[in-house]
Amino acid sequence: MTQPHWVIVGGGTAGWIAASALTHQFNGTGIRITLIESSNISTVGVGEAVIPPFMTFIRNLGINEQEFIAKVSGTFKLGIEFRDWSKLGEHYFHPFGSLGRSLNGNDFYHCWLKASHEGDAGDLLDYSPAKIMAAQHRFFPPFKMPAQSGFETANYALHFDAGLVAKELRHYAEAKGVNRIDAQVAQVITDSTGKITELLLDNGQRVNADFFIDCTGFRGLLIDQALASPFQDWSEYLPCNSAIALQSEHTGSTPPYTTASAREAGWIWRIPLQHRMGNGYVYCDRFCDDDEAIATLQTQLIGKPLHDPRVIKFTTGMRRASWKKNCIALGLSGGFLEPLESTAIHLVTRGVQFLLELLPDLTLSDEQCESLAAEYNRRLLQDYEEIRDFLILHYCLTERDDTEFWQYCRSMQLPDSLQARIALFKARGQLPPEKDELFKKDNWLAVLHGMGIAPTSYHPFTNQLPSHQLQNALQAARQQLQTGVQSIPTHDDFIAQFCKSP
Ligand code: FAD
Repeated sequence: MTQPHWVIVGGGTAGWIAASALTHQFNGTGIRITLIESSNISTVGVGEAVIPPFMTFIRNLGINEQEFIAKVSGTFKLGIEFRDWSKLGEHYFHPFGSLGRSLNGNDFYHCWLKASHEGDAGDLLDYSPAKIMAAQHRFFPPFKMPAQSGFETANYALHFDAGLVAKELRHYAEAKGVNRIDAQVAQVITDSTGKITELLLDNGQRVNADFFIDCTGFRGLLIDQALASPFQDWSEYLPCNSAIALQSEHTGSTPPYTTASAREAGWIWRIPLQHRMGNGYVYCDRFCDDDEAIATLQTQLIGKPLHDPRVIKFTTGMRRASWKKNCIALGLSGGFLEPLESTAIHLVTRGVQFLLELLPDLTLSDEQCESLAAEYNRRLLQDYEEIRDFLILHYCLTERDDTEFWQYCRSMQLPDSLQARIALFKARGQLPPEKDELFKKDNWLAVLHGMGIAPTSYHPFTNQLPSHQLQNALQAARQQLQTGVQSIPTHDDFIAQFCKSP
Protein backbone atom coordinates (compact mmCIF):
# COMPACT_ATOMS: atom_id res chain seq x y z
CA MET A 1 0.00 0.00 0.00
CA THR A 2 1.32 3.50 -0.82
CA GLN A 3 2.08 5.43 2.32
CA PRO A 4 0.64 8.93 2.53
CA HIS A 5 2.70 12.08 2.69
CA TRP A 6 1.62 14.64 5.32
CA VAL A 7 2.64 18.26 5.05
CA ILE A 8 2.44 20.68 7.96
CA VAL A 9 2.63 24.38 7.06
CA GLY A 10 3.83 26.57 9.93
CA GLY A 11 6.49 26.11 12.60
CA GLY A 12 5.01 27.86 15.62
CA THR A 13 3.92 25.98 18.73
CA ALA A 14 1.06 24.34 16.80
CA GLY A 15 3.22 23.19 13.89
CA TRP A 16 5.90 21.59 16.03
CA ILE A 17 3.38 20.01 18.42
CA ALA A 18 1.68 18.42 15.41
CA ALA A 19 5.01 17.31 13.91
CA SER A 20 6.22 15.76 17.20
CA ALA A 21 3.01 13.89 17.91
CA LEU A 22 2.54 12.63 14.37
CA THR A 23 6.13 11.46 13.94
CA HIS A 24 5.94 9.71 17.32
CA GLN A 25 2.75 7.89 16.35
CA PHE A 26 3.70 7.19 12.73
CA ASN A 27 7.01 5.63 13.81
CA GLY A 28 7.64 2.52 11.73
CA THR A 29 4.65 3.00 9.39
CA GLY A 30 6.65 4.61 6.59
CA ILE A 31 4.35 7.66 6.53
CA ARG A 32 6.37 10.74 5.53
CA ILE A 33 6.03 14.13 7.24
CA THR A 34 7.31 17.45 5.93
CA LEU A 35 7.05 20.73 7.82
CA ILE A 36 7.32 23.99 5.89
CA GLU A 37 7.95 27.18 7.82
CA SER A 38 9.23 30.55 6.81
CA SER A 39 11.92 32.15 8.92
CA ASN A 40 10.79 35.47 7.35
CA ILE A 41 7.35 35.22 8.99
CA SER A 42 7.51 35.39 12.75
CA THR A 43 5.40 33.27 15.07
CA VAL A 44 2.79 34.94 17.30
CA GLY A 45 5.37 34.82 20.12
CA VAL A 46 2.96 34.47 23.03
CA GLY A 47 1.35 31.40 24.60
CA GLU A 48 3.52 30.91 27.66
CA ALA A 49 1.18 29.19 30.09
CA VAL A 50 -0.47 25.79 29.75
CA ILE A 51 -2.78 23.51 31.71
CA PRO A 52 -2.18 20.03 33.19
CA PRO A 53 -2.93 17.89 30.10
CA PHE A 54 0.20 19.38 28.52
CA MET A 55 2.28 17.37 31.02
CA THR A 56 0.65 14.18 29.72
CA PHE A 57 1.41 15.26 26.17
CA ILE A 58 5.13 15.69 26.98
CA ARG A 59 5.31 12.40 28.91
CA ASN A 60 3.56 10.51 26.09
CA LEU A 61 6.28 11.67 23.71
CA GLY A 62 8.82 10.11 26.09
CA ILE A 63 10.39 13.49 26.88
CA ASN A 64 12.02 13.86 30.29
CA GLU A 65 9.94 16.46 32.13
CA GLN A 66 12.65 18.07 34.23
CA GLU A 67 15.12 18.31 31.32
CA PHE A 68 12.36 19.85 29.20
CA ILE A 69 11.56 22.44 31.88
CA ALA A 70 15.23 23.42 32.12
CA LYS A 71 15.48 23.83 28.34
CA VAL A 72 12.35 26.01 28.00
CA SER A 73 13.09 28.19 31.06
CA GLY A 74 9.97 26.73 32.61
CA THR A 75 8.37 27.30 35.98
CA PHE A 76 5.53 25.40 37.60
CA LYS A 77 1.91 26.51 37.52
CA LEU A 78 -0.50 25.35 40.23
CA GLY A 79 -3.37 27.53 39.03
CA ILE A 80 -4.37 31.12 38.37
CA GLU A 81 -4.87 33.95 40.83
CA PHE A 82 -7.74 36.21 39.74
CA ARG A 83 -7.68 39.74 41.11
CA ASP A 84 -10.52 42.28 41.00
CA TRP A 85 -12.89 40.10 38.93
CA SER A 86 -15.97 39.95 41.12
CA LYS A 87 -15.39 43.33 42.79
CA LEU A 88 -12.44 45.70 43.00
CA GLY A 89 -10.18 44.57 45.84
CA GLU A 90 -11.38 40.92 45.86
CA HIS A 91 -9.35 37.99 44.64
CA TYR A 92 -9.70 34.25 44.26
CA PHE A 93 -7.64 31.27 43.10
CA HIS A 94 -8.47 28.67 40.48
CA PRO A 95 -6.29 25.70 41.47
CA PHE A 96 -5.40 22.60 39.45
CA GLY A 97 -6.47 19.30 41.01
CA SER A 98 -9.02 18.56 43.64
CA LEU A 99 -10.91 20.77 46.06
CA GLY A 100 -11.09 18.54 49.10
CA ARG A 101 -11.80 14.84 49.48
CA SER A 102 -15.19 13.16 49.86
CA LEU A 103 -16.22 12.25 53.40
CA ASN A 104 -17.82 8.84 53.98
CA GLY A 105 -18.84 8.82 50.33
CA ASN A 106 -20.44 12.26 50.51
CA ASP A 107 -19.48 14.88 47.96
CA PHE A 108 -16.90 17.19 49.52
CA TYR A 109 -18.47 20.44 48.35
CA HIS A 110 -21.82 19.54 49.88
CA CYS A 111 -20.12 18.58 53.14
CA TRP A 112 -18.40 21.94 53.16
CA LEU A 113 -21.68 23.73 52.38
CA LYS A 114 -23.42 22.02 55.27
CA ALA A 115 -20.53 22.74 57.63
CA SER A 116 -20.47 26.38 56.53
CA HIS A 117 -24.19 26.71 57.16
CA GLU A 118 -23.69 25.33 60.65
CA GLY A 119 -20.47 27.05 61.70
CA ASP A 120 -17.02 28.08 60.57
CA ALA A 121 -15.67 25.65 57.97
CA GLY A 122 -13.00 28.00 56.62
CA ASP A 123 -12.86 28.99 52.98
CA LEU A 124 -13.49 26.36 50.30
CA LEU A 125 -9.98 26.93 48.95
CA ASP A 126 -8.44 26.05 52.34
CA TYR A 127 -8.97 22.45 51.17
CA SER A 128 -7.17 22.80 47.86
CA PRO A 129 -3.60 21.45 48.13
CA ALA A 130 -2.53 23.37 45.01
CA LYS A 131 -3.80 26.64 46.48
CA ILE A 132 -2.06 26.00 49.81
CA MET A 133 1.29 25.39 48.05
CA ALA A 134 0.77 28.35 45.70
CA ALA A 135 -0.02 30.79 48.51
CA GLN A 136 3.40 30.10 50.04
CA HIS A 137 5.30 29.96 46.73
CA ARG A 138 6.14 26.31 47.40
CA PHE A 139 6.23 23.39 44.97
CA PHE A 140 6.73 19.65 44.90
CA PRO A 141 5.27 17.26 42.27
CA PRO A 142 2.02 15.99 43.85
CA PHE A 143 2.38 12.51 42.33
CA LYS A 144 5.60 12.09 44.31
CA MET A 145 3.90 13.01 47.60
CA PRO A 146 2.85 10.18 49.94
CA ALA A 147 -0.72 8.91 49.50
CA GLN A 148 -2.94 10.39 52.23
CA SER A 149 -0.61 13.39 52.63
CA GLY A 150 -3.42 15.57 51.34
CA PHE A 151 -1.19 16.92 48.55
CA GLU A 152 -1.33 13.93 46.22
CA THR A 153 -4.56 15.20 44.63
CA ALA A 154 -3.08 18.54 43.52
CA ASN A 155 -2.08 18.95 39.89
CA TYR A 156 0.18 21.27 37.92
CA ALA A 157 1.16 22.62 34.54
CA LEU A 158 3.90 24.95 33.29
CA HIS A 159 4.88 28.44 32.27
CA PHE A 160 7.53 28.50 29.54
CA ASP A 161 9.22 30.40 26.74
CA ALA A 162 7.12 29.55 23.65
CA GLY A 163 10.05 30.07 21.28
CA LEU A 164 12.17 27.58 23.24
CA VAL A 165 9.32 25.05 23.26
CA ALA A 166 9.04 25.21 19.46
CA LYS A 167 12.84 24.75 19.28
CA GLU A 168 12.78 21.70 21.58
CA LEU A 169 9.92 20.05 19.74
CA ARG A 170 11.65 20.79 16.45
CA HIS A 171 14.77 18.90 17.65
CA TYR A 172 12.54 16.04 18.74
CA ALA A 173 10.61 15.87 15.47
CA GLU A 174 13.63 16.26 13.18
CA ALA A 175 15.50 13.56 15.10
CA LYS A 176 12.56 11.25 14.37
CA GLY A 177 12.63 11.96 10.65
CA VAL A 178 10.45 15.03 10.00
CA ASN A 179 11.77 16.87 6.95
CA ARG A 180 11.84 20.66 7.47
CA ILE A 181 11.79 23.15 4.61
CA ASP A 182 12.50 26.81 5.32
CA ALA A 183 10.48 28.63 2.64
CA GLN A 184 7.32 30.62 2.23
CA VAL A 185 4.26 29.01 0.69
CA ALA A 186 3.41 31.33 -2.19
CA GLN A 187 0.45 29.44 -3.68
CA VAL A 188 -1.90 26.67 -2.67
CA ILE A 189 -3.08 24.54 -5.61
CA THR A 190 -6.44 22.74 -5.40
CA ASP A 191 -8.10 20.25 -7.78
CA SER A 192 -11.62 20.33 -9.24
CA THR A 193 -13.07 18.69 -6.09
CA GLY A 194 -11.56 21.42 -3.89
CA LYS A 195 -8.84 19.21 -2.39
CA ILE A 196 -5.35 20.63 -1.94
CA THR A 197 -2.86 18.87 -4.21
CA GLU A 198 0.28 20.94 -4.14
CA LEU A 199 2.05 23.90 -2.55
CA LEU A 200 4.18 26.27 -4.54
CA LEU A 201 7.04 27.70 -2.50
CA ASP A 202 8.81 31.02 -2.98
CA ASN A 203 12.08 29.19 -3.74
CA GLY A 204 10.42 27.60 -6.79
CA GLN A 205 9.98 24.19 -5.13
CA ARG A 206 6.66 22.35 -5.53
CA VAL A 207 5.50 20.12 -2.67
CA ASN A 208 2.82 17.44 -3.27
CA ALA A 209 1.08 15.69 -0.41
CA ASP A 210 -2.00 13.68 0.46
CA PHE A 211 -2.94 15.47 3.69
CA PHE A 212 -2.15 19.02 4.81
CA ILE A 213 -2.11 20.54 8.29
CA ASP A 214 -2.56 24.30 8.41
CA CYS A 215 -0.53 25.76 11.30
CA THR A 216 -0.02 29.19 9.73
CA GLY A 217 -1.50 31.06 12.68
CA PHE A 218 -4.08 33.80 12.26
CA ARG A 219 -3.30 33.89 8.50
CA GLY A 220 -5.07 30.57 7.93
CA LEU A 221 -3.28 30.23 4.61
CA LEU A 222 -4.81 26.87 3.69
CA ILE A 223 -8.04 26.58 5.66
CA ASP A 224 -9.17 30.16 5.08
CA GLN A 225 -7.39 31.68 2.10
CA ALA A 226 -7.47 28.50 -0.04
CA LEU A 227 -10.49 26.57 1.27
CA ALA A 228 -12.62 29.43 2.68
CA SER A 229 -13.87 27.48 5.71
CA PRO A 230 -16.19 29.98 7.46
CA PHE A 231 -15.34 31.39 10.88
CA GLN A 232 -17.87 31.40 13.70
CA ASP A 233 -17.43 34.66 15.62
CA TRP A 234 -18.09 34.54 19.39
CA SER A 235 -17.11 38.16 20.19
CA GLU A 236 -20.57 38.91 21.52
CA TYR A 237 -19.78 36.57 24.45
CA LEU A 238 -16.04 37.17 24.75
CA PRO A 239 -15.54 40.75 23.55
CA CYS A 240 -11.76 41.07 24.10
CA ASN A 241 -10.12 41.33 20.68
CA SER A 242 -6.67 42.83 21.33
CA ALA A 243 -3.60 42.22 23.43
CA ILE A 244 -0.42 44.08 24.29
CA ALA A 245 2.48 41.76 25.06
CA LEU A 246 5.51 43.02 26.95
CA GLN A 247 8.23 41.00 28.66
CA SER A 248 10.07 42.40 31.66
CA GLU A 249 12.90 41.49 33.99
CA HIS A 250 12.00 39.00 36.67
CA THR A 251 12.67 40.11 40.22
CA GLY A 252 11.90 38.53 43.58
CA SER A 253 10.59 35.04 44.33
CA THR A 254 8.81 33.11 41.58
CA PRO A 255 5.11 32.47 42.15
CA PRO A 256 4.04 28.99 40.99
CA TYR A 257 0.93 30.45 39.36
CA THR A 258 -0.27 32.89 36.71
CA THR A 259 -1.86 36.15 37.80
CA ALA A 260 -4.86 37.55 35.91
CA SER A 261 -5.81 41.03 37.15
CA ALA A 262 -9.05 42.51 35.84
CA ARG A 263 -8.66 46.04 34.44
CA GLU A 264 -10.90 48.75 32.97
CA ALA A 265 -11.42 47.02 29.60
CA GLY A 266 -10.11 43.49 30.11
CA TRP A 267 -7.35 41.91 32.18
CA ILE A 268 -3.58 41.78 32.61
CA TRP A 269 -1.60 38.54 32.74
CA ARG A 270 1.63 38.01 34.58
CA ILE A 271 3.49 34.79 33.76
CA PRO A 272 6.76 34.10 35.59
CA LEU A 273 9.53 32.29 33.72
CA GLN A 274 12.99 31.48 35.06
CA HIS A 275 14.70 34.31 33.18
CA ARG A 276 11.92 36.89 32.75
CA MET A 277 8.31 37.83 33.38
CA GLY A 278 5.71 37.66 30.61
CA ASN A 279 3.10 40.44 30.82
CA GLY A 280 0.15 41.27 28.67
CA TYR A 281 -3.07 43.27 28.63
CA VAL A 282 -6.00 41.54 26.92
CA TYR A 283 -8.73 44.09 26.19
CA CYS A 284 -11.60 45.07 23.95
CA ASP A 285 -10.68 47.96 21.67
CA ARG A 286 -14.28 49.18 21.63
CA PHE A 287 -13.72 50.32 25.22
CA CYS A 288 -10.01 51.22 25.26
CA ASP A 289 -7.64 52.25 22.48
CA ASP A 290 -4.24 50.67 21.96
CA ASP A 291 -2.23 53.59 23.39
CA GLU A 292 -4.32 53.63 26.53
CA ALA A 293 -3.85 49.87 26.89
CA ILE A 294 -0.06 50.19 26.48
CA ALA A 295 0.04 52.92 29.15
CA THR A 296 -2.06 50.78 31.54
CA LEU A 297 0.21 47.78 31.09
CA GLN A 298 3.38 49.82 31.54
CA THR A 299 2.21 51.13 34.89
CA GLN A 300 1.74 47.53 36.09
CA LEU A 301 5.22 46.20 35.24
CA ILE A 302 7.33 45.13 38.17
CA GLY A 303 10.73 44.72 36.46
CA LYS A 304 12.23 46.80 33.60
CA PRO A 305 10.68 46.16 30.14
CA LEU A 306 12.85 44.07 27.80
CA HIS A 307 11.45 45.35 24.47
CA ASP A 308 8.81 47.65 22.97
CA PRO A 309 5.18 46.65 23.54
CA ARG A 310 3.63 44.50 20.79
CA VAL A 311 -0.02 44.84 19.75
CA ILE A 312 -1.83 41.65 18.67
CA LYS A 313 -5.36 41.66 17.22
CA PHE A 314 -7.66 38.62 17.24
CA THR A 315 -11.26 37.51 16.98
CA THR A 316 -12.65 34.99 19.40
CA GLY A 317 -14.28 32.06 17.66
CA MET A 318 -13.54 29.00 15.56
CA ARG A 319 -13.78 27.54 12.08
CA ARG A 320 -17.10 25.82 11.44
CA ALA A 321 -14.99 23.08 9.86
CA SER A 322 -11.39 22.85 11.05
CA TRP A 323 -11.08 19.70 8.94
CA LYS A 324 -12.18 20.49 5.40
CA LYS A 325 -11.38 18.26 2.40
CA ASN A 326 -7.81 17.00 2.98
CA CYS A 327 -6.77 19.87 5.24
CA ILE A 328 -6.87 20.10 9.04
CA ALA A 329 -6.32 23.47 10.76
CA LEU A 330 -4.54 23.35 14.12
CA GLY A 331 -3.73 26.26 16.39
CA LEU A 332 -4.64 29.85 15.62
CA SER A 333 -5.63 29.06 12.03
CA GLY A 334 -8.45 26.88 13.40
CA GLY A 335 -9.76 29.24 16.06
CA PHE A 336 -8.92 31.17 19.18
CA LEU A 337 -10.51 31.64 22.57
CA GLU A 338 -8.90 34.43 24.51
CA PRO A 339 -6.07 33.27 26.80
CA LEU A 340 -7.74 33.72 30.21
CA GLU A 341 -7.44 30.01 31.11
CA SER A 342 -4.46 29.25 28.82
CA THR A 343 -6.40 26.76 26.74
CA ALA A 344 -5.16 27.38 23.17
CA ILE A 345 -2.19 25.01 23.22
CA HIS A 346 -4.40 22.40 24.85
CA LEU A 347 -6.80 22.72 21.92
CA VAL A 348 -3.89 22.03 19.57
CA THR A 349 -3.07 18.79 21.40
CA ARG A 350 -6.78 17.83 21.44
CA GLY A 351 -6.95 18.44 17.70
CA VAL A 352 -3.92 16.18 17.24
CA GLN A 353 -5.49 13.54 19.50
CA PHE A 354 -8.77 13.53 17.53
CA LEU A 355 -6.84 13.47 14.26
CA LEU A 356 -4.84 10.42 15.33
CA GLU A 357 -8.01 8.66 16.49
CA LEU A 358 -9.82 9.36 13.24
CA LEU A 359 -6.77 9.21 10.99
CA PRO A 360 -7.63 9.44 7.26
CA ASP A 361 -5.70 7.16 4.91
CA LEU A 362 -5.45 6.54 1.19
CA THR A 363 -7.77 3.50 1.20
CA LEU A 364 -10.79 5.62 2.14
CA SER A 365 -13.18 7.18 -0.35
CA ASP A 366 -13.87 10.91 -0.25
CA GLU A 367 -17.25 10.15 1.28
CA GLN A 368 -15.69 8.08 4.05
CA CYS A 369 -13.15 10.83 4.74
CA GLU A 370 -16.00 13.31 5.00
CA SER A 371 -17.61 11.19 7.73
CA LEU A 372 -14.35 11.25 9.68
CA ALA A 373 -14.07 15.00 9.16
CA ALA A 374 -17.64 15.54 10.41
CA GLU A 375 -16.90 13.61 13.59
CA TYR A 376 -13.63 15.51 14.10
CA ASN A 377 -15.40 18.85 13.71
CA ARG A 378 -18.17 17.75 16.08
CA ARG A 379 -15.68 16.78 18.81
CA LEU A 380 -13.71 19.99 18.43
CA LEU A 381 -16.86 22.12 18.54
CA GLN A 382 -17.84 20.41 21.80
CA ASP A 383 -14.44 21.25 23.33
CA TYR A 384 -14.53 24.84 22.11
CA GLU A 385 -18.06 25.40 23.39
CA GLU A 386 -17.24 23.96 26.78
CA ILE A 387 -14.17 26.19 27.14
CA ARG A 388 -16.05 29.21 25.75
CA ASP A 389 -18.72 28.82 28.43
CA PHE A 390 -16.11 28.43 31.15
CA LEU A 391 -14.37 31.62 30.04
CA ILE A 392 -17.62 33.60 29.89
CA LEU A 393 -18.32 32.50 33.47
CA HIS A 394 -15.35 34.59 34.66
CA TYR A 395 -16.90 37.73 33.16
CA CYS A 396 -20.66 37.42 33.38
CA LEU A 397 -20.86 36.96 37.16
CA THR A 398 -19.00 40.18 37.92
CA GLU A 399 -20.51 42.78 40.21
CA ARG A 400 -18.26 45.45 38.71
CA ASP A 401 -19.99 48.31 36.96
CA ASP A 402 -17.19 50.86 37.13
CA THR A 403 -16.53 50.90 33.36
CA GLU A 404 -18.57 50.38 30.18
CA PHE A 405 -16.68 47.14 29.56
CA TRP A 406 -17.81 45.59 32.85
CA GLN A 407 -21.34 46.93 32.39
CA TYR A 408 -21.42 45.09 29.05
CA CYS A 409 -20.10 41.87 30.64
CA ARG A 410 -22.76 41.93 33.37
CA SER A 411 -25.63 42.35 30.98
CA MET A 412 -24.64 40.36 27.91
CA GLN A 413 -26.82 37.54 26.62
CA LEU A 414 -25.38 34.14 27.65
CA PRO A 415 -25.36 30.89 25.66
CA ASP A 416 -28.26 28.63 26.77
CA SER A 417 -25.78 25.95 27.86
CA LEU A 418 -24.13 28.32 30.34
CA GLN A 419 -27.39 29.80 31.60
CA ALA A 420 -28.63 26.30 32.39
CA ARG A 421 -25.41 25.42 34.21
CA ILE A 422 -25.47 28.52 36.39
CA ALA A 423 -29.17 27.99 37.22
CA LEU A 424 -28.48 24.37 38.19
CA PHE A 425 -25.64 25.42 40.45
CA LYS A 426 -27.60 28.18 42.14
CA ALA A 427 -30.50 25.79 42.75
CA ARG A 428 -28.50 23.46 45.01
CA GLY A 429 -24.80 23.42 44.20
CA GLN A 430 -25.09 20.77 41.51
CA LEU A 431 -23.18 20.64 38.22
CA PRO A 432 -23.72 18.39 35.17
CA PRO A 433 -21.99 14.98 35.29
CA GLU A 434 -18.43 15.04 33.97
CA LYS A 435 -17.85 13.53 30.56
CA ASP A 436 -14.72 13.91 28.48
CA GLU A 437 -14.49 17.53 29.55
CA LEU A 438 -11.39 19.60 30.18
CA PHE A 439 -12.81 21.59 33.06
CA LYS A 440 -14.18 19.31 35.73
CA LYS A 441 -16.60 20.01 38.53
CA ASP A 442 -13.88 21.39 40.83
CA ASN A 443 -12.74 23.87 38.18
CA TRP A 444 -16.27 25.23 37.77
CA LEU A 445 -16.71 25.29 41.54
CA ALA A 446 -13.53 27.31 42.06
CA VAL A 447 -14.69 30.02 39.67
CA LEU A 448 -18.33 30.06 40.79
CA HIS A 449 -17.24 30.26 44.41
CA GLY A 450 -14.53 32.80 43.63
CA MET A 451 -17.05 35.02 41.88
CA GLY A 452 -19.23 34.92 44.98
CA ILE A 453 -21.99 32.56 43.81
CA ALA A 454 -23.33 30.28 46.55
CA PRO A 455 -26.26 27.88 46.38
CA THR A 456 -28.97 28.35 48.98
CA SER A 457 -28.88 24.76 50.21
CA TYR A 458 -26.93 21.51 50.04
CA HIS A 459 -27.72 17.89 49.20
CA PRO A 460 -29.98 16.39 51.90
CA PHE A 461 -27.96 13.14 52.08
CA THR A 462 -25.18 15.16 53.73
CA ASN A 463 -27.44 15.42 56.79
CA GLN A 464 -26.53 11.81 57.55
CA LEU A 465 -23.18 13.14 58.77
CA PRO A 466 -23.39 14.36 62.36
CA SER A 467 -22.34 18.01 62.64
CA HIS A 468 -19.54 17.50 65.14
CA GLN A 469 -18.05 14.67 63.09
CA LEU A 470 -18.15 16.82 59.97
CA GLN A 471 -16.58 19.85 61.67
CA ASN A 472 -13.80 17.69 63.14
CA ALA A 473 -13.04 16.01 59.83
CA LEU A 474 -12.86 19.35 58.01
CA GLN A 475 -10.70 20.93 60.63
CA ALA A 476 -8.31 17.96 60.49
CA ALA A 477 -8.12 18.22 56.70
CA ARG A 478 -7.28 21.94 56.85
CA GLN A 479 -4.73 21.37 59.56
CA GLN A 480 -3.08 18.54 57.64
CA LEU A 481 -2.47 20.81 54.64
CA GLN A 482 -1.25 23.74 56.75
CA THR A 483 1.24 21.52 58.57
CA GLY A 484 2.28 19.51 55.51
CA VAL A 485 3.06 22.53 53.36
CA GLN A 486 5.86 23.56 55.72
CA SER A 487 7.95 20.57 54.63
CA ILE A 488 7.61 21.35 50.90
CA PRO A 489 10.51 23.22 49.25
CA THR A 490 10.04 26.70 47.89
CA HIS A 491 9.28 26.87 44.19
CA ASP A 492 12.62 28.62 43.52
CA ASP A 493 14.56 25.98 45.48
CA PHE A 494 12.83 23.14 43.65
CA ILE A 495 13.68 24.68 40.28
CA ALA A 496 17.28 25.38 41.32
CA GLN A 497 17.72 21.78 42.38
CA PHE A 498 15.94 19.88 39.61
CA CYS A 499 15.29 21.95 36.50
CA LYS A 500 17.41 25.08 36.40
CA SER A 501 17.94 26.59 32.94
CA PRO A 502 21.58 26.74 31.89
P1 FAD B 1 2.01 31.09 15.00
O1 FAD B 1 2.81 31.10 16.22
O2 FAD B 1 1.56 32.40 14.45
O3 FAD B 1 2.86 30.35 13.88
C1 FAD B 1 2.56 30.47 12.51
C2 FAD B 1 3.65 29.79 11.70
O4 FAD B 1 3.23 29.77 10.34
C3 FAD B 1 5.01 30.48 11.73
O5 FAD B 1 6.02 29.52 11.85
C4 FAD B 1 5.12 31.14 10.35
O6 FAD B 1 6.46 31.23 9.89
C5 FAD B 1 4.31 30.15 9.52
N1 FAD B 1 3.77 30.70 8.28
C6 FAD B 1 2.78 31.61 8.14
N2 FAD B 1 2.55 31.86 6.83
C7 FAD B 1 3.40 31.06 6.14
C8 FAD B 1 3.66 30.85 4.77
N3 FAD B 1 3.01 31.51 3.81
N4 FAD B 1 4.63 29.98 4.43
C9 FAD B 1 5.32 29.29 5.37
N5 FAD B 1 5.11 29.44 6.68
C10 FAD B 1 4.18 30.32 7.06
N6 FAD B 1 -2.05 29.72 24.35
C11 FAD B 1 -1.90 29.04 25.49
O7 FAD B 1 -2.05 27.82 25.50
N7 FAD B 1 -1.58 29.69 26.65
C12 FAD B 1 -1.46 31.03 26.72
O8 FAD B 1 -1.16 31.55 27.78
C13 FAD B 1 -1.69 31.78 25.55
N8 FAD B 1 -1.62 33.12 25.54
C14 FAD B 1 -1.89 33.82 24.40
C15 FAD B 1 -1.95 35.21 24.43
C16 FAD B 1 -2.30 35.90 23.29
C17 FAD B 1 -2.40 37.38 23.32
C18 FAD B 1 -2.53 35.22 22.06
C19 FAD B 1 -2.86 35.95 20.80
C20 FAD B 1 -2.44 33.84 22.02
C21 FAD B 1 -2.15 33.13 23.19
N9 FAD B 1 -2.12 31.75 23.19
C22 FAD B 1 -1.96 31.06 24.34
C23 FAD B 1 -2.27 31.02 21.94
C24 FAD B 1 -0.92 30.50 21.48
O9 FAD B 1 -0.02 31.57 21.33
C25 FAD B 1 -1.07 29.78 20.14
O10 FAD B 1 -2.11 28.86 20.23
C26 FAD B 1 0.18 29.03 19.81
O11 FAD B 1 1.29 29.85 19.88
C27 FAD B 1 0.08 28.42 18.44
O12 FAD B 1 0.23 29.41 17.45
P2 FAD B 1 0.36 28.89 15.97
O13 FAD B 1 1.48 27.94 15.90
O14 FAD B 1 -0.99 28.44 15.54
O15 FAD B 1 0.67 30.21 15.13
